[in-house]
Amino acid sequence: MAEIMKGKVAAITGAASGIGLECARTLLAEGATVMLIDRAAGRLETLCAELGERARPLVVDLLSPSDVSGMLPRILDAAGRLDIFHANAGAYIGGPVAEGDPDAWDRMLNLNINAAFRSVHAVLPHMIAQKSGDILFTSSIAGVVPVVWEPIYTASKFAVQAFVHSTRRQVAQHGVRVGAVLPGPVVTALLDDWPKAKMEEALANGSLMQPKEVAEAVLFMLSRPRNVTIRDLVILPNSVDL
Ligand code: NAD
Repeated sequence: MAEIMKGKVAAITGAASGIGLECARTLLAEGATVMLIDRAAGRLETLCAELGERARPLVVDLLSPSDVSGMLPRILDAAGRLDIFHANAGAYIGGPVAEGDPDAWDRMLNLNINAAFRSVHAVLPHMIAQKSGDILFTSSIAGVVPVVWEPIYTASKFAVQAFVHSTRRQVAQHGVRVGAVLPGPVVTALLDDWPKAKMEEALANGSLMQPKEVAEAVLFMLSRPRNVTIRDLVILPNSVDL
């Protein structure tokens, strides 16, 4: 293997499961050191023991502003540098607005929007000072296409897209690249709340992807030469019923 990420340090939020974990595996396989950030302390410890010496656990509750603002020194302490920050953690709530629980919406919006933006705020000055860095979001196809059955989730990912576009322009002059991967539905714990019938139908008609497919798209984006802007990459299964 060419180890195209050798010498780089990546920090990935929500790395104890699903897409974040698969991105961690992929970057590790390409030689990177990876800080796996999650609140699931036990799972992180077990995973990092399995994944090897370059996988480092960082227990952070992204809903705690002080945890988030304190992340950068802990990353630098554990890994010595930071080249890639992947704001991946997110939650999902679907269903009719009239039947929704606004308190649950608040928790989701806090994670998908506020925690992600605060994380970028925490690491960006370091990247600007070193005149280099990549910031990547796991957004969603729901960040560009309004999805009827998940209005609040869709709103959160539209917010992510707005942030990505503006921040990309603000920091490009400093050598920092900002991009987003926008997957369609992926088989992870995030979809545990999908109705059983909807999940079975999606599996039967090939409209669900595997986390590895997203991780490969992420690797493609991060491995572009530094003079190439990383933009947004939509990755979809065979069919999407939006
Ligand atoms: P997942 O549920 O498998 O993983 C989410 C991880 O985030 C978990 O390990 C969880 O412990 C962690 N997490 C949750 N709250 C946290 C907190 N407060 N602090 C720290 N960690 C926390 O989900 P996934 O499907 O891998 O989702 C990852 C990203 O991909 C999300 O942003 C999601 O919106 C996006 N996405 C998912 C799909 C899909 O269909 N699965 C499709 C498009 C986009």
